[in-house]
Amino acid sequence: MKSIKKEVTLISDNTWLISDYYLDNYFLVVGEKKAVLIDTGCGIGNVLDEVRELTDLPVEVLLTHGHLDHCGGMFTIDSCYMHPDDESIAREHFNKTDMIKWYIETRVPVRFPGEGHVEALTAMVSDEDYPFFQYKPIKDGDTWDLGGRIIEALHTPGHSPGSVCFLDKANRILYSGDTVNIGIIIPNKPEGTEKDLAIYRDSIAKIWNRQEEFDKLAIGHDGGLIDKGIVKDYLDLATGILEGSIVGQYEEVGIRKGVVARLGAAELWYRCDA
Ligand SMILES: [Zn+2]
Repeated sequence: MKSIKKEVTLISDNTWLISDYYLDNYFLVVGEKKAVLIDTGCGIGNVLDEVRELTDLPVEVLLTHGHLDHCGGMFTIDSCYMHPDDESIAREHFNKTDMIKWYIETRVPVRFPGEGHVEALTAMVSDEDYPFFQYKPIKDGDTWDLGGRIIEALHTPGHSPGSVCFLDKANRILYSGDTVNIGIIIPNKPEGTEKDLAIYRDSIAKIWNRQEEFDKLAIGHDGGLIDKGIVKDYLDLATGILEGSIVGQYEEVGIRKGVVARLGAAELWYRCDA
């Protein structure tokens, strides 16, 4: 098997982005007393081994949500914090080797064109069966004191019912998972997505109300840190769609299919099937 190491980037003081082979991002945030790992990738290798190269402090794991590309690494971790509204999604997604392989095989050719990493990555996903992971429920407003640095949970449903962003006021970063990043998906439902879109808009308004406390977003996919202005773009975009002043169009781009609308840096896929 070809050995490829994950890319680790220092993005702020004592803050690292670990790129899950460009499939997704997770973040190690280190204080004076302890550290948190925000998300765990899709399940390639032992993420705690990677973390141990960066800190010896105790590490707690926080999940932004329960999708397979964020909770997948939990197979080597005893316990984490997650919002309970994502437990059913996480149970559907966790340790489903076929689903993880499908995820890797469909995304890697897009993100690593011509590099031929599919085989290596596929081989690195565990085929063993693991029981569903232990988790402690996150409530809106919960905090973790890392020593000189406090992380606060903001419950931001929309992309999934239990999506959470984590605010790091000391370093002025919001870890925004799949609630705000380059392209956001509101998954389709038989009854439509208008209700979820309204819930999403309210979550974005909640984040924007706190915008004086952060400058950058550390996002769950694609680039590392991005400017917070994209939050306002998502707020205006979701509001415009709900009020009817912005109308999306059906598109198929790569593996993604659904109705999409764009404004500024924001790209919102709603009624999205993939
Ligand atoms: Zn997601």
